[in-house]
Amino acid sequence: MNTYNQNKLHKRLRRLTGEAIADFNMIEEGDRIMVCLSGGKDSYTLLDILINLKISAPVQFELVAVNLDQKQPGFPEHVLPQYLESLGIEYKIVQENTYGIVKEKIPEGKTTCSLCSRLRRGILYRTATELGATKIALGHHRDDILETLFLNMFYGGKLKAMPPKLMNDSGEHIIIRPLAYCKEKDIAKYAEIKQFPIIPCNLCGSQPNLQRQVIKEMLNDWDKKFPGRIETMFRATQNITLSHLCDTNLYDFKGIKKGDIDVNGGDLAFDREDLPPMMGFDASELDDQDLILWKEAN
Ligand code: SF4
Repeated sequence: MNTYNQNKLHKRLRRLTGEAIADFNMIEEGDRIMVCLSGGKDSYTLLDILINLKISAPVQFELVAVNLDQKQPGFPEHVLPQYLESLGIEYKIVQENTYGIVKEKIPEGKTTCSLCSRLRRGILYRTATELGATKIALGHHRDDILETLFLNMFYGGKLKAMPPKLMNDSGEHIIIRPLAYCKEKDIAKYAEIKQFPIIPCNLCGSQPNLQRQVIKEMLNDWDKKFPGRIETMFRATQNITLSHLCDTNLYDFKGIKKGDIDVNGGDLAFDREDLPPMMGFDASELDDQDLILWKEAN
């Protein structure tokens, strides 16, 4: 990638992160943000972009990077301290042998991620309190959000994604995801250009989540066949019409009475909605199922 495109990529990531921060009021005057750094491309990019935005942000805030060393075999302990020293920013490495606990409690061959994540979450919340952090920043991006949406839909029967900002269950910690609008592909390219010292994520020996892998491949496949579909789907998560879904807890369908005025653009009971034509792909390349959907939409 030439320098011009590298600058464009950096500006795009900065702009999209800034937009997400503003849209969700993620960072406020005087905030002390604990940035969780795993050693993967996403969290390195998050920290890098936040450091960059801090210089010109209209509000004053502090950053403190935190890594949890879970004592997985082969974890290169020196990598993150060296990198963070070179940045000259405040940081803390928390050492807790969650790997040992997980190995002791979970029988061989069973999935370890759920206990591991619960332990990690508890330690990170405790660390945020100790550090006086007002918010906890995580490196999840747009593709993580969409994958979660489909995982919940396909396997959980829920229309639920991953929020860019949320309060934890105890009401003590606000979690933010400033990369919520950024594409994984952009982050991967950026991490490569910046040559972040990536720490492999399979040190625990756990198998990757196969369901998530299937969804990832499905989305990547769509992205190739239907350029723009991922963007449109993400926009859909920001443009919800509760009166046109079926959740009786969120919309008062029972209370609809004769004489009520139309809500949310909606008397389509007898019509088919107009959908914009899908552009930029060759319909002859579609497989059978996609072809049926495409014909229905056009
Ligand atoms: S992949 Fe390994 S480190 Fe990550 S949550 Fe699962 S068990 Fe924990």
